[in-house]
Amino acid sequence: MTALITGAARGIGKAIAVRLAKDGFDIAVNDLNEAAFEGSDVIELCESFGVRAERFYANVADSRECEALVKAVAEIFDGIDVLVNNAGITRDGLMARMSDEQYDSVIAVNQKSVFNMMKYAGNLMSRAKKGSIINVSSVAGIYGNPGQMNYAASKAAIIGMTKTAAKELGRRGVTVNAIAPGFIATPMTDKLSEEQKAAMLSQIAMRRYGTPEEVAGAVSFLASADASYITGQIVEISGGLSM
Ligand code: NAP
Repeated sequence: MTALITGAARGIGKAIAVRLAKDGFDIAVNDLNEAAFEGSDVIELCESFGVRAERFYANVADSRECEALVKAVAEIFDGIDVLVNNAGITRDGLMARMSDEQYDSVIAVNQKSVFNMMKYAGNLMSRAKKGSIINVSSVAGIYGNPGQMNYAASKAAIIGMTKTAAKELGRRGVTVNAIAPGFIATPMTDKLSEEQKAAMLSQIAMRRYGTPEEVAGAVSFLASADASYITGQIVEISGGLSM
């Protein structure tokens, strides 16, 4: 069984890769380029569980690179059982001052990538009549977040895309779900201001940030046989942000 995780050299993607390796999956680790893997021990950590782990470079915002990525992983690993669309970026700024470049780049990397990857990996899984796709959305896509018009748009779109793909691929035995993490401590969230961090914490019922490993635990469940009758669902992992 093989799992392909995008943007997995570090952060939440890396934690997902390592957890799925622990679960026994061979792991295809995608990230942008060789430089993205500098200082990353993701391959070694995955291999420590006795599975095969390989790096694959691709910009998931680019449709042709996604097509080539899916083809390469499927050839090397003889298929793809689990796809986790994790790659994502932020280019924050208040709407009034947000440039077209800021808006478009986030939509391309966070949203178009999910279409690209689901299209090609979905075709493959559809032919195999099995598979599981897990898309990484965000609470920002459910509740909105000031300074993140572009990011919230991309993450809200992922919710609609997940439900659409679940309806299109369900009859082929392929499940499609999304997770919506809240405030998870990673390099991405380190970039938030102290004011933004304090405001977030005060709204979390559990009064603490989540860990990448806690996000990976939910992905592990959705990728497992125990979740075989769950599709089109959005699992919030936010320590009670919405309550
Ligand atoms: P991160 O540490 O910045 O990791 C994101 C990874 O994606 C990086 O390795 C990055 O590579 C890679 N990437 C960026 N653009 C790419 C592209 N075009 N093609 C392939 N890979 C690309 O972020 P994270 O915090 O772990 O977040 C992972 C996912 O969780 C994202 O989708 C994010 O939106 C979502 N999320 C995070 C939080 C949170 O609190 N951290 C909350 C909700 C949702 P480089 O190193 O080269 O940039």
